Amino acid sequence: VHIKRMNMDLGNSMTFAMINGNANIIEIPTAVVELSETKAKGYFTDDIPKSKLKNSLMLKVDGKYLLVGEAAEKFLGNDSHIGVELHEKSTSKLSEIMFFAALALHDAEQSMEHEEKTDIQIDYFSTMLPIFELLEADKFSDKTNAMADRFKGDFTFEVATNGCRKTIEVKTEVSKCYTEGLVAKFALKYNFDLTESETAEKFDRNLTINNDLGGGTIDQVRLPKRLENPKSRNDFKTITEAPFLGTIKDLYEQKLRKYNFKSARDVEHFIVKNYESGKYIVVDGKTGLETDVTAVVENALREYTNTIMPIIFSSFSSEQGEVYKYNYFGGVAPIIRKFIEEYVTANYSEEVFKKYHHIEPDRTARFLNLYGLEIISRQNTLVNK
Ligand code: ADP
Ligand code: MG
Repeated sequence: VHIKRMNMDLGNSMTFAMINGNANIIEIPTAVVELSETKAKGYFTDDIPKSKLKNSLMLKVDGKYLLVGEAAEKFLGNDSHIGVELHEKSTSKLSEIMFFAALALHDAEQSMEHEEKTDIQIDYFSTMLPIFELLEADKFSDKTNAMADRFKGDFTFEVATNGCRKTIEVKTEVSKCYTEGLVAKFALKYNFDLTESETAEKFDRNLTINNDLGGGTIDQVRLPKRLENPKSRNDFKTITEAPFLGTIKDLYEQKLRKYNFKSARDVEHFIVKNYESGKYIVVDGKTGLETDVTAVVENALREYTNTIMPIIFSSFSSEQGEVYKYNYFGGVAPIIRKFIEEYVTANYSEEVFKKYHHIEPDRTARFLNLYGLEIISRQNTLVNK
């Protein structure tokens, strides 16, 4: 299996990988559970076809048996990602495991049934580190270089799921690491064919604040006009109070308690499934009785938005005459899009919202960092060659 370009967003809640520019992005919940060898051996009672590997992924890494992604979520009863400390991607073993998981799924798409071994050659790999980790270093590049090095060279792991067992050997030639939240600007400036995007000119006249709304943190980067590069450490901020997943957890434990959700993760899936229609209906599995909980859910999302917006606005001071433009993205942006608009319109005006606030279409907003990485990768590998 030959990979020309692989870009990864190793998120705290979700892991994304874009391989060879494929618009079909590999998405895996960031979750890992270690099983004892005995437990691992009997875990899947039947052979799993490789088309179903995503739900039943077990890896063997350094002699350890690991459930990864959806299988790990199911095992955990789903809430391990909430309230747990943000993992440090620059040191956590989770980063390699999620890298292997993405490769295992890509290999399952590419390879023949029942092979015993695959060699994967990666010409160019890139990933990013979040702002809160980079702010711990004297120089950002100390951390990004060390992170990049972890994915370079040779690796071996096994897919341990019954029916899909195989050894995978990986060789990465070039590996790079960038700054989350910052790389997103490349997806505003350029199209995938590296021509200048039409969106870019919207950011010509103002300083822009990129707001990456994730499950656990909100990360901010302030950019000079025309989406140029930030100049100082003060242009980077992380907001850790008021995590979105905390709001979901409260909904699960309080207002939605009586509706038999299995976990906060379950409530999160319910919201993800329904936010586009804006109709939230719970169905009682035993009686078939339907209850409309739209008001409860929307009030919680509105309250969350009303909490974070003043925090977002107060992160950076501004000089008289300079008006910031706010760009919102990350997985939570599509979900609260309408409440952001509502907040800005109510507290400022509709005109201010249109002029100074920007949210890409849902899918682009969710993947803006990853798309930015892909554009940087194309610039690094296609141009001048
Ligand atoms: P992080 O960078 O912290 O991993 P993301 O930016 O990926 O977080 O955002 C995670 C959140 O995205 C989830 O908590 C969920 O609420 C939201 N989300 C929006 N659309 C989806 C989707 N299609 N699948 C999963 N999560 C989604
Ligand atoms: Mg993220």
